[in-house]
Amino acid sequence: MITAIALAVGFIAAPPPQFDHAFRGRTVIQYGTYAGVAAMCGGPAYGCSFIGGQDGVCVMKLVREADSPRLRRHERAHCNGWPAWHP
Ligand SMILES: [Zn+2]
Repeated sequence: MITAIALAVGFIAAPPPQFDHAFRGRTVIQYGTYAGVAAMCGGPAYGCSFIGGQDGVCVMKLVREADSPRLRRHERAHCNGWPAWHP
């Protein structure tokens, strides 16, 4: 189940304070190419994230070339419940 998608290309929004904190659980990062991430995330994106598995691990799929602290912070906020439809 994909609960959060970062579709912004060229701009990575800073998350609101209520979602901008450490994730309570394990985080797994899976790298891909732009084309691979677009296929996995349902559209062109630097990355997307979802809660998966029985242990609720936060899975981030990221374009390797686009990996940055800002992108991870953004995706972490999605794992914390930030809705995917933010501006
Ligand atoms: Zn986002």
